[in-house]
Order: sequence, then C-alpha cells, then structure tokens
Amino acid sequence: MTTGTRPGAVAAPPDAPVIVVGGGPTGLMLAGELRLGGVEVIVLDKLTEPVTESRGLGFTARATEVFDQRGLLDGFKNPEISPKGHFGGIPMDYDVLPGGHFGVRNVEQTETEGVLTRWATGLGATIRRGYEVTGVRQSEELVAVEVSGPQGEEVLRCSYLVGADGGRSTVRQVLGFDFQGHDATCEMFLADVVGVGIRPRFIGERVRGGMVMAARLSDDVDRVIVCERGTAPAERTGPPDFQEVAGTWRRLTGEDIGHGEARWISSFTDASRLVTEYRRGRVFLAGDAAHIHLPAGGQGLSVGVQDAVNLGWKLAAVVSGHSDESLLDTYHRERHPVGERVLTNTRAQGLLYLGDSEVEPLRAVVGELLGNPGVARHLAGMVSGLDIRYDIGSGEHPLLGLRMPPCELLVGQDATTTARLLHPGRGVLLQLSDDPAPAAIAEPWVDRVAVVSAICADERLTGTHAVLLRPDGHIAWAAPDGGDLAEALGTWFGVADRARPTVPAARR
Ligand SMILES: Cc1cc2nc3c(=O)[nH]c(=O)nc-3n(C[C@H](O)[C@H](O)[C@H](O)COP(=O)(O)OP(=O)(O)OC[C@H]3O[C@@H](n4cnc5c(N)ncnc54)[C@H](O)[C@@H]3O)c2cc1C
Repeated sequence: MTTGTRPGAVAAPPDAPVIVVGGGPTGLMLAGELRLGGVEVIVLDKLTEPVTESRGLGFTARATEVFDQRGLLDGFKNPEISPKGHFGGIPMDYDVLPGGHFGVRNVEQTETEGVLTRWATGLGATIRRGYEVTGVRQSEELVAVEVSGPQGEEVLRCSYLVGADGGRSTVRQVLGFDFQGHDATCEMFLADVVGVGIRPRFIGERVRGGMVMAARLSDDVDRVIVCERGTAPAERTGPPDFQEVAGTWRRLTGEDIGHGEARWISSFTDASRLVTEYRRGRVFLAGDAAHIHLPAGGQGLSVGVQDAVNLGWKLAAVVSGHSDESLLDTYHRERHPVGERVLTNTRAQGLLYLGDSEVEPLRAVVGELLGNPGVARHLAGMVSGLDIRYDIGSGEHPLLGLRMPPCELLVGQDATTTARLLHPGRGVLLQLSDDPAPAAIAEPWVDRVAVVSAICADERLTGTHAVLLRPDGHIAWAAPDGGDLAEALGTWFGVADRARPTVPAARR
C-alpha cells in the first residue's frame, strides 16, 4: 500500500481525466454527472459483480428531486412516496413543507444502483469491475492509482481522483485523511428472512431492552433489524449467525423467527465520523468515504448522491478548462457543513431511538414539539435535505443558495418543469418576466447556460423575475435583489470569452 503526496513522483500522461474509486451509488452518480459534463471517467470497483443485497430501501425527498433533475425517476419500478415519516422513531408528517415528503420507500439499493449503472454507462462512463485500489500518490499535476486487477498489478493515472469507496475507504486511509467522530456504542443485527410473516414496524418500535424494526420486502420476505441495549459492538470478521439474530429478536419481542430462512444477514453500528477535508489537492472524498452515521431516516445514500451532484459539474468545468481550480474548493465549503448536520441529526435520532428509559421524557417533549408546525418544518427540512442552503452570493433574495423547488412551467405552448430543464446537467437562466436584461448579460455563457423564458404560477416563485440555476439545481442568482448576474455567471460558470482548451488526451 502506497500513501501520501510526493511532488514529481507521477509522470506519465493520464489514463482518464477523472478516476472514481467505488461503483456504489455515490461513484455511479458522479460518473454520470461527469459524462454529462463531457468528461471521460473510469470507475474502479473491487467487486467483480454488483452486490445483490440492499442496505438501503429508499432515499430522501432531496435525493428524489436530484434523480428527477436527471430524468431518472421513471427508471424505478414501484417507488412509493410517503409524507409519513419519523424523527428518531417519533412519527412525523413531512408534508408540513410545501412539496415535502419523507422520501421514496420500497426501492432496494440494488435497484437504485442498477438505474444509476445503466444511466452512467449509457452516457459513456467506463466501469471496471474486479479492480481493487491499493495505493494512491499525487503530484502537483497528476494522481497515480495503484490497482490490483484481473491483469495483476498496474498503475493508472488521472488528473483528479475521487474516493467514493465506502465507509472503510482505502483512498481515505492511504492518504491519511482525518476522520473524526464517535466510536460505535451499540451494534444492530439485520436479516432478510423468508417465511416468517411478522408484523411490519417500518419506523421502528422501542421495546423493553432495545429497539426492533420490520419491513415487508416482498410477499414472503421480511427485513428485521434488532438492537439490544447493553451489548457492546462485537469485533466481527463476518456477519452474525442467524440463530443469534433470531434469539435477540425473541428476547425483545417474544416472537419466534428461528424457523425462517435468512436470505441475507448483516450488522451495523451507530459509529459516526466525518472527514475534516473533502478535498486534498487532486483527491476528493464523497459519500460514505467522507461520512458514516446511523442509518436513521435513510440519509446515507441520499447524501452521497448529493455529494456527487455537487462535485460532478465542478470537476467537469475545471477539466474542460472553463473554470479554474478555486471552483473545486467550494465542494468542501458546501458539503462539509451538510455532512456535519447529518451527523448531528442522526446522533440525535440515535439517542431518541436507542436510549434507555431515561430518554422517555425527552421523547415526550420532542413529540409535543413536533405538533408545532414551525418545529416540524425545521426537522422535516433537515432530514429530507430540502433545507440545504449553500453560501452562494451576497444578494438578499430569499431563495439564494436554496435548491430550486420543483415547479410546473409553461415555455411557449409547452408544459415542462424546473426539474426537466436540468436534465442535461447544464446551468439554466430561467426568465419569469419580460425584462430582456438577464438574457443579454448571460449571452456570452450560452454554451454553458441555457436561457429559458417561462411562465410559472407556483406561489413559491411569486415576485421572482429570474433565477440562475447551477447544474445541481441550486439557485446561484435571483432577481430582484439576488446580487450581480455577471458576477454569479463568472463565479459558477467560468470566464465567458475564454477559448475552450482541449481536455487532456486519455492514454489508450
Ligand atoms: C441497514 C442500513 C440501511 C440503510 N438504509 C438506507 C436508506 O434507506 N437510504 C439511504 O439513503 N441510505 C441508507 N443506508 C446507507 C447507504 O447504504 C450508504 O450510505 C450507501 O451505500 C453509501 O454509498 P457509497 O457509494 O458512498 O458507498 P458504498 O455503497 O459502500 O460503495 C462503495 C463501493 O466502493 C467499492 N470499494 C471499496 N473499496 C474499494 C477499493 N479499495 N477499490 C475499489 N473499489 C472499492 C465497494 O466494492 C463498493 O462497491 C443504509 C445503511 C445501512 C447499513
């Protein structure tokens, strides 16, 4: 295993401008985003085949919108969108937010990964399976990636490397990224069991001695999750034995599932950690490689996908020469606070879910507070990811930095939506008034920013004359009072009249 930064140690031309380590949801989303930006990308995954088991069973409201922004939602077979959710197991209606919901349920992570794989490869991403990354070195110009693959050991070179290689990230470890946080205090068992037909408890149930959850995966398969208080996390090299899971379930619920057949058994913990830097030189971390936490509220995959959508277009703009390197610093600036907030809310939910009887008064108070629409809106915005606001500009417009809400539009005679305008992964200047000035200012950027005049009756845009959307759907400028349009275009889309330099040629 090779580590560290050795200036000058990496000499040959790149195999691809960007290499992504990890073909999970984060890496796949990033690969598609890079291809939309016209950049060649190789994804390396150590597994020879995609996994067939699903940790996640859905994604949050903001991840749903992100998939919609790329036209991916129709690819899911049976997504169930529900306003009903919870905070730490305390029931909560997410429709307190306009357009808000707890997210999509009933979609196994394998299906999400399948949708993303087809999309990314359809756009031309290369996915190499059976390639394990063992070392990383970077110089000022390039990154060298040591890989053990079907042809043996080799070194691949790229201009930028993204570690999307999960919670035990090799990239993070070999480069010594600081991964700060809290060790696990408890362990949870998970089993997908055939032939037990137990009562569903989708948001979890506190029982004497711990917490149990159950969800129906299909007619004959139930997922059970069980956490017994007071048992320290075990040092494991493999999954727990099914009889251990069934025994814990019986102790906590009185129900016998031991006669069932376990299709998949796993365990996870409440360990909670976040890297202190999302970028070091030419190397970035995204998804679980950058943050791990209790899977409360189904946020992990969703946040990873949003990391990818924040980083992809920025990397593409820099690789294609439109923007300078400083754009890449905004990735850490924008996503690190989001990671911090996710860790805070999942730790709070963990206490409410898993704490002993001493948390009952706190649960009662939080339950009462959730009856207050302002509090409910605050928590729904936090867990759904709909309240994320990036520090984007100096203007006063209330939408600045927020995500563009999904709105219906009339463009000429044609009905469309704000999400559909973002399908190509480019910027959009959306004009909602007759003022010709914004379009004239944006003219020198039309190769990167589509100018669209539309009528919108959505009350969330009442009084807004125009908005500039980044490819990730966040509002970079708005009129009136949303700052200087030319400055915003320059900041997010680069120099207007710069001749387009050639993308570094890939080694074949
Ligand atoms: C029980 C449970 C339920 C969950 N439910 C949800 C949910 O409902 N919704 C939700 O949003 N999230 C959920 N999560 C979280 C979600 O599963 C993860 O956050 C998500 O998988 C992270 O995606 P990723 O792409 O960042 O990492 P991963 O999915 O871990 O993918 C990393 C990839 O990198 C590859 N890799 C690793 N090391 C190397 C290497 N050295 N070289 C090459 N390849 C490598 C791996 O093979 C893997 O394919 C849940 C988690 C758990 C444990």
